Amino acid sequence: MPGAGDAAGRSPEPVFSLPGAVLHLLDTLWKGGHAAYVVGGCLRDALLGREPADWDLTTDAPPERIAALFPRSLYENRFGTVVVRHDGAQYEITAFRRDVSYSDFRHPDAVEFGESIEEDLARRDFTVNAMAWGARPGEKPTFVDPHAGREDLTLRLLRAVGDPDRRFEEDALRMVRAVRLAARLDFAIEPGTLAAIRRNAPLVAHLSGERILVELTKLLAAERPSVGLRPLADSGLLAVLAPELDRQRGLAQNKIEGEDLWDHTVRTVDAAACEPILRMAALLHDIGKPDTLADGHFHNHEVVGAQMARAYLAQLHAGRELQDGVSHLIANHMFAYQPAWSDAAVRRFVRKARPEWVRSLLALRAADNQGSGQPADAGDLAELSRRIEAELAAKVVLDRNQLAVDGSDLIAELNLSPGRLLGVLLDELTERVIVEPKLNERATLVQLAQELIIDGRLVENPRS
Ligand code: ATP
Ligand code: MG
Repeated sequence: MPGAGDAAGRSPEPVFSLPGAVLHLLDTLWKGGHAAYVVGGCLRDALLGREPADWDLTTDAPPERIAALFPRSLYENRFGTVVVRHDGAQYEITAFRRDVSYSDFRHPDAVEFGESIEEDLARRDFTVNAMAWGARPGEKPTFVDPHAGREDLTLRLLRAVGDPDRRFEEDALRMVRAVRLAARLDFAIEPGTLAAIRRNAPLVAHLSGERILVELTKLLAAERPSVGLRPLADSGLLAVLAPELDRQRGLAQNKIEGEDLWDHTVRTVDAAACEPILRMAALLHDIGKPDTLADGHFHNHEVVGAQMARAYLAQLHAGRELQDGVSHLIANHMFAYQPAWSDAAVRRFVRKARPEWVRSLLALRAADNQGSGQPADAGDLAELSRRIEAELAAKVVLDRNQLAVDGSDLIAELNLSPGRLLGVLLDELTERVIVEPKLNERATLVQLAQELIIDGRLVENPRS
């Protein structure tokens, strides 16, 4: 069992908990005459006492042999990985690998099978990701930790395996992984490794948008993304990955003494609840400010920013939902609530913010407040939130689809034909129902529509 220590009184092996299913897979490989280990990020997480997202195993058995040992498995040819299903969960078992020759700073040109666990660990990115626990058949399982990953784990440091410059030249994604793992694990980047990131940062220009987005999304899902966002900017990676955001650095903001616009962005991201669209919106909410600065004001920065954010996310090949959500939140984040707003004004606000997004918009603003050194509910945000919740609970009408009449009712009742006038009429009825919700009854609306249309035209104020 892992963690059992040793009878001679030497320091015990670190304790980690290994699920029975994983032990069973290892055992099957050992009994089949193979070396087998748990390896990589899962071992790192288990040693930190965190639940690993998935368990990865590595072995000297070639993929065909792994597939033969596990009848319910899928062989993914390209990387020599076999996916094994056991007790409803999935496990990846990969033959020892070695990477050969990198020519484009992103993928190894080929993957070869390695001879030993040591060779497999040497190709991994950071020392804390380059540990294994397991054995050759017939031997007692132990830690294999040739790069002193366990020591870096106690120091909470991300240190490249081998020569950092060479490793980042081989695969520039490792630099982005460094900052996102720093955020996720709340680790620092070892100074020599960080210096190498500074030297090699321009190489991340070769990475695909998709791979950058995956890492950025994971970084933003950390408890405190600032732990990764700080070194992202300080190392020069941000200047290559998002020059629009990098230009926030050094730009004065009279919000928190001595802090610039990038500091404000970082604080806002940390303050935002950990929800992917909200965190991304927090990161990009002021992306329009550097470009719109004139006479000490950021003119229309939210409108410019919403477009820039969409363009940036499109570059990363983000899905429509993320692009739409983020740009909608940014475009609307500069609202100025006043307690004097009428209930109709609150309903108009919800319509503009959209009912499905209005809570996120308030959450973004609360984070923005905190990022500005103010209380989360500055600007009477808590009151606005209560008023919005009351309107939503009353299921008030916010768009024409919720009216008690529809186009065909009006066509029949008013002898209208489909066309522009019908649309204008429905919008006007909606407007009136937003002001006065109790108008939303079929007979009332038909009568109002009749008053509104004279000689085939919409009249302005039939009752005045
Ligand atoms: P996560 O918690 O997000 O899963 P992880 O470190 O486990 O983080 P994975 O992408 O699951 O990341 O990779 C599993 C392991 O594969 C890593 O721990 C590392 O050993 C190795 N690895 C992944 N990407 C690279 C890379 N670009 N270069 C070298 N080794 C890598
Ligand atoms: Mg993993």
